[in-house]
Order: sequence, then C-alpha cells, then structure tokens
Amino acid sequence: MARAISLIMAERIPENLQQKLTERLRYYEDMGIRFFYRDRSAGAHSQSPGVPVPSLEIQKGETTLAKPVRKPEPRKLISAPARKIDVPPVLTGPSLFEAVDKIAGDSLPQIQADLGDCTRCKLHKGRNKIVFGDGNPKAELVFVGEGPGADEDAQGLPFVGRAGKLLTQMIEAMGLQRKDVYICNVVKCRPPENRLPEKDEVATCSPFLLRQIDAIAPKVIVCLGSVAVQTLLETHRGVSQFRGQWLEFRGRKLLATYHPAYLLRNSNSKGEVWKDLQKVMAVLGLEVKKGKSS
Ligand code: URA
Repeated sequence: MARAISLIMAERIPENLQQKLTERLRYYEDMGIRFFYRDRSAGAHSQSPGVPVPSLEIQKGETTLAKPVRKPEPRKLISAPARKIDVPPVLTGPSLFEAVDKIAGDSLPQIQADLGDCTRCKLHKGRNKIVFGDGNPKAELVFVGEGPGADEDAQGLPFVGRAGKLLTQMIEAMGLQRKDVYICNVVKCRPPENRLPEKDEVATCSPFLLRQIDAIAPKVIVCLGSVAVQTLLETHRGVSQFRGQWLEFRGRKLLATYHPAYLLRNSNSKGEVWKDLQKVMAVLGLEVKKGKSS
C-alpha cells in the first residue's frame, strides 16, 4: 500500500488529485484490499521504471473482464439451430473478492474499528445503528443475511425482529444457541423501507463481510436468501437455484437456504430449510434428532 501511495506521488499528478487517490487507497486498505494492478491497456508511457506489471496468462476456458476487441462479424440472416450452452452456476473470472487479501491476525474488533462510523455509502444517511454482527468470534457456523430491518437498526444487532426470532428457533432446533454461531449481514446499515441493497452498497460493504468470514474462519457458511448467496458467489441467480447444495467459498463450505422472512410468508418451505440445516448439522457433527421438522 505504501508503495502504491509513493507511486501516486511520483506520477506528477496534481496535488488535490494525489490527496483523493491516497484517501481512496486508504479506504481500500481498510477493506483489506492490498494489491493493485495497472491497466495494461493504459499504454507503456504510463509505466514507471522498476514497477513490474504482472503478466496475467489466460487459461483455456477462463473468462476475463477485459475482452479482446474483435472485429464484428457480419450478421447472418438465417437462424442457426439452437445450441445448448452450459452456463456455469457461478460467475467465473477475476472477482473483487480475489483482491481482498486475507489479513494475517485480522480480528472482528479490528474490522469493526476499520468500519468505524461508516459513511462510505448512501445507506448511512438513514440508519440509526450500524449492525456489524453478533455471536461467537470463533464460530464454526456463520449465518449471512441480507441487511438490517427496523428492529435491527434500532438495536444494532442482527436478526432480532420477527425473522430473527424464527432464525433463533432454527438455531436452537439444531441444538445450538445464538451465542454459539455468528450472525451477520451483507450490508451493515438498514436500506430505506427495507428495500433490497443496491449494487454499489453491496460492493462497498461486502469486503467487510469477507474480512469477518476470514477472521472467524468457520467450517460452514449458511447464506440466508438470495442477496447473501448472490453476493458471496457473485452470481445473479436466486437462492432456489442453489438451495441445499454444498458449494465452496474461499475454501470453506457454503450452503444456501431460504431467508427466514421468506419462511414467515411461506411456511410450507420450512421442511426444505430444515433438511438444509440437517446437512449442516451432519458436517458440524451435531446430533440430528428425529421429528424436528417444523
Ligand atoms: N433480515 C436480514 O437479512 N438481516 C437481519 O439482520 C434482519 C432481517
């Protein structure tokens, strides 16, 4: 990071811009982003001597964000027979999260301190309390929700409203207590009118979630609902596409299931969620008791 800042200084950039860039880099540092790559398309003239630009080799089948510019092919007017395309369930290629480096010795208090009295996105304007997360900092099981609602915003704690009561019952049905697990959300401030968090809000807040997960180092992450699974797996697909399947996130087991707020409206799906939680229990070595299905 210090090297990135000294590079900015060396680049004959106007002083006010230098200051802005330095602030921006410090912000990324807070989020745990430590490495930056020069845009190779920016041209050789912008490259300082002595700063190696990593050569990124593209493996066969791998996607990259920067696509080669190709001459457009002339349009064909006859339609070709339909071809089945295997779309991977999860977006592949470089992701924002690959840039979020694991910080040795990172801890929840440090992450919370870095988050501070956050004003990084527009959600701060309407919040009462930041809802950082709650539970065992060494939990084997982490639940990730979407974002705080009114009750959570008032108390500064995740999942304490109606959906939270149901989540607590689910945790207890697993033979655990809330203090045994860790509960957090993709965004730490309440979206107005409980709307879905927007792309920029998720992008700003989710690196802190990532640091939380890395610091806790759980065996299992359970994504509650679409926003959590879409954020961690970087996909546009909804939770029902992934529900109940074991997936992987940064080397950890991840399972997605329905959000408790959905279950409040669709109690018929409780059985499916219970089946998902039983899978989690099996991995955690928790005893699966017969007859607990509601
Ligand atoms: N819903 C969520 O996703 N998170 C909370 O903390 C509460 C409700």
